[in-house]
Amino acid sequence: MKSLFENIQAVNELLNEREKTILLTDFDGTLTPIQKHPDLAALSEEIRQILIKFSHNKEIFLGIITGRSLKQIKKLVHIRDVLYVANHGIELEGPGIRSTCPEAKKARSTLWHIYMRLFKSLKNIEGVHIEDKGLSISLHYRAVKKRGDVEYIISTLHDITKPFLDRKMLSLSTGKMVYEIRPPVKWNKASTIQWLLTHYFPVEFSEDALLIYLGDDKADIEVFDSLMGKGLTIFVGNPSDMSTADYYVNSPEEVKVFLEHLYEQKHEVHNECLQ
Ligand SMILES: [Mg+2]
Repeated sequence: MKSLFENIQAVNELLNEREKTILLTDFDGTLTPIQKHPDLAALSEEIRQILIKFSHNKEIFLGIITGRSLKQIKKLVHIRDVLYVANHGIELEGPGIRSTCPEAKKARSTLWHIYMRLFKSLKNIEGVHIEDKGLSISLHYRAVKKRGDVEYIISTLHDITKPFLDRKMLSLSTGKMVYEIRPPVKWNKASTIQWLLTHYFPVEFSEDALLIYLGDDKADIEVFDSLMGKGLTIFVGNPSDMSTADYYVNSPEEVKVFLEHLYEQKHEVHNECLQ
């Protein structure tokens, strides 16, 4: 993995090779720094303004790909005419599309049951946050200080979910200091993006656009794997972390610098074409 800014010349060549760009980005840890509590995350006005410019640009197709629920991410980003891929692909909403995975809806009562059991078992643990996202549950333990508590949380989680995992009624995955309890569906960030590439993006984009993907967590690394050699993938974080992205930037602050740069590049090219 190479530094994006140290190799900006090569990146610019790639950006200018194609007229159209599909820009897909994760939210937490990518556009905003990860917070102790997910409710504290907020998109900076600077990044929001850049994203609004992208959403008005006919050469750029913008999508936000997140583990958050659709309701939450729409509230946090608050931009119209953007593709939202929420709950890791279970919920989609954007220009010409609105869908919720039907198999996921069937798991709703099981998820509610798990949520209540986790809540009752872990309510006295300081720092734990169990988030009911409708079609999935996130168990956050970033703010848990005692090591013994973390061990207790993990063993409780496994005890409660095991019978459901054994019967393939749920699936369990991990992110940064978070467990995701999800319906047993094939949709994740990577498979959803592959589906969108084949079935969703307008023809002029699906045939000849540069696909850019930015992300910082495990689910994003699956996307990097699936897009290897097919676009420009950018990992956000420490370059010594294992990732198959083409390039890395160190922080959401550097993501902002890259997005500004991307806008300038695209704007310049567009203006040259008009002259
Ligand atoms: Mg993230």
